[in-house]
Amino acid sequence: MTEGSTFDIAVVGAGPAGLAFVRSLAGAGLSVALIEGQAEAGLREPAYDGREIALTHRSMRLLRAMGVWDRIPADHISDLRQARVLDGGSAFALTFGAADADRLGVLIPNHLIRRGLFESVQGQAGVTLMAGRRVAGCAVEAASPRGRVVLDDGTTIRAKLIVAADSRFSGVRDQLGVGAEIHRLGRSMMVCRMRHDQPHGHVATEWFDHGQTVALLPVADPEQRVSSVVLTLAAPAIAELTTLTPQAFAVEMERRLKGRLTGLELVGTRHAYPLATTWSHRFAGEGFALIGDAAVGMHPVTAHGFNLGLRGQETLARVVRSARGGDIGSGRLLASYEREHRLASWSLYRGTNALVRLFTEETPPARLARGAALRAGQVTAPFKAVVKRMLTA
Ligand SMILES: Cc1cc2nc3c(=O)[nH]c(=O)nc-3n(C[C@H](O)[C@H](O)[C@H](O)COP(=O)(O)OP(=O)(O)OC[C@H]3O[C@@H](n4cnc5c(N)ncnc54)[C@H](O)[C@@H]3O)c2cc1C
Repeated sequence: MTEGSTFDIAVVGAGPAGLAFVRSLAGAGLSVALIEGQAEAGLREPAYDGREIALTHRSMRLLRAMGVWDRIPADHISDLRQARVLDGGSAFALTFGAADADRLGVLIPNHLIRRGLFESVQGQAGVTLMAGRRVAGCAVEAASPRGRVVLDDGTTIRAKLIVAADSRFSGVRDQLGVGAEIHRLGRSMMVCRMRHDQPHGHVATEWFDHGQTVALLPVADPEQRVSSVVLTLAAPAIAELTTLTPQAFAVEMERRLKGRLTGLELVGTRHAYPLATTWSHRFAGEGFALIGDAAVGMHPVTAHGFNLGLRGQETLARVVRSARGGDIGSGRLLASYEREHRLASWSLYRGTNALVRLFTEETPPARLARGAALRAGQVTAPFKAVVKRMLTA
């Protein structure tokens, strides 16, 4: 690549959303610059990051169609047969699906999804990977092509369309002057794998306990005795937990799980994620579009971030392809992506945030309200149907 290289599209960020978008453009005859801050080795063999991604049936279909599914080792894919939501010390559980029924979805380690996506774009015609280079600035100008992207080594490239896929704290979004609603929640989520005595039976548990939220997610394991344990607490408490020795950590987690799992043993590393939700004021405009977390940064509790990102990039790729030689950076064209993806995301984003508020508020009225909400949910068929559709669509 030389100074002043031009491309049809510059994609900033080779995370799951950016990679999926590039893959979705295969065969479209477009030149694409894929710019990523991490070194290529980290994309080729991503390190385990603790995230077990719950995929909906729709996402599974998309990954199959993109030729990514077969790149994920089958023995690392865990069926999700039933989901249970628990509140505090109550024995009542709102349940979705049955342990012996069709799967609600699957759980796959994030690094394996990222690896599969990267493999799928390698050698793709028209794609230039610029790994180990960060975008330092970008703008949409009157010149043609209108997008200007400046890398951290001072190189400038131009593109008809800039696509921001650079995470929920998107620098590109800021540089393009697009605002966002950003909620820093002051809490962190710690994720790790733990071995335990009881077989998990491919059941996921979301437990909104008083003062802590715990999710137990079934991991692919021949004996079904490994789960991903996801604990949400105030950020300093999570930071402290990650410094405990594995033995002290296991004792502490057994105390926190109050007998739900016993014989706990840490398997591998612990990872902490500070929680923040974001909603971009615009998803697209003249010469640019935002995808993945850069558009919508979901709270992980309902496991929709990547699922939504996958859906959004598919929409954008379809819109770009529909230009058929026309102006792919046209604000009018991109407005149809913005409309469709905002519609797909809005209720999920708001609904998830409302759920988090209801289930983390510690006042007595809030506790009463969530107990009532769970029981109403169990007996209200339309409510359950809507939630199940959200999980499996
Ligand atoms: C604990 C946890 C559990 C989750 N579980 C689920 C789940 O079960 N289901 C689900 O659907 N989602 C889940 N998610 C959400 C999912 O992980 C995210 O939605 C997804 O990773 C977002 O992908 P992305 O590509 O938009 O952004 P990111 O993964 O953040 O990738 C952004 C990329 O951009 C690069 N970048 C940033 N700035 C620059 C720059 N200036 N120049 C060049 N490159 C740059 C970064 O290096 C990075 O590679 C979970 C998230 C967490 C934290």
